[in-house]
Amino acid sequence: MKAFEKNIRKVEPYVPGEQPQRKVIKLNTNENPYAPAPGVTKALEEMNTDRLRLYPDPTAAPLVNALADFYHVNPDQVFVGVGSDDVLSMCFLTFFNSEKPIFFPDITYSFYKVWADLYRIPYECQKLDENFKIVKEDCGVIFPNPNAPTGLYEDLVDVEDIIAHNQDVIVIVDEAYVDFAGRSAIELIDKYENLIIVQTFSKARSMAGMRIGYAISNPTLIKYLNDAKYSFNSYTMNQTSLVCGVEAVKDKAYFEECVNKIIETREWAKEELKNLGFHCLDSKSNFIFAMHPDYDAKE
Ligand code: PMP
Repeated sequence: MKAFEKNIRKVEPYVPGEQPQRKVIKLNTNENPYAPAPGVTKALEEMNTDRLRLYPDPTAAPLVNALADFYHVNPDQVFVGVGSDDVLSMCFLTFFNSEKPIFFPDITYSFYKVWADLYRIPYECQKLDENFKIVKEDCGVIFPNPNAPTGLYEDLVDVEDIIAHNQDVIVIVDEAYVDFAGRSAIELIDKYENLIIVQTFSKARSMAGMRIGYAISNPTLIKYLNDAKYSFNSYTMNQTSLVCGVEAVKDKAYFEECVNKIIETREWAKEELKNLGFHCLDSKSNFIFAMHPDYDAKE
């Protein structure tokens, strides 16, 4: 090893899902099979490229305001980033600044461990119970709901239990897939000062390629997040994302129509997989965790 190498930050990176160039029915990264809202296409067609000479609005105000309207919160309760991976990474950097370990389930989104390692945050993984559920009393401070890759959804009363039992620490609920599931914990943000909800445009809004994610919380925690962001990169949201993001949020009818179609297909697919002898977890997301007694996954 060269002398200078000992001071280099070394991490074992997250491996993103493959994006194959050949034509396949692609299921691996839980994208949406439907097109983004028609307003997004129109906005791109009408885009004034001269605007690209200028830096985008560093506060991302149009998009923040559109999300605040949609969720009936104030704009100072919304933080946006380059996909929810960016938002979650900023949350790890901002809120997990302690020698004490953070907690997350042992079967969960594999990026949590990578951010913890990157930012030198100690962590403990909690075992899920025999049904792959987060054991209520043991739960830590970041978990996806629905969980990935199980697809299982915790009812809001159980999520509230976790938040209520961990009020001395920040609790982040990663709701990347919640639109396919049921109730979001956003309705609890006024009740718990330690709660942050993170969501994305990549799944239910068909815009994984645009890279937009957001956090909803109280103004105090959102300010801490923005302080970290402005210490890192002021212009995270590009002009195109701002314009297209607003169009996607505005079209509630199209959003609901696509979500309902996906839920219908999911329930149908679960039945069909069962008929083929698969055991499926009761997914409430846009993907299904399936096992077969006679074949292993690789095969
Ligand atoms: N959270 C979970 C649980 C996910 O599965 C994903 C998608 N891989 C993300 C967050 C990040 O999605 P994005 O960065 O596209 O918003």
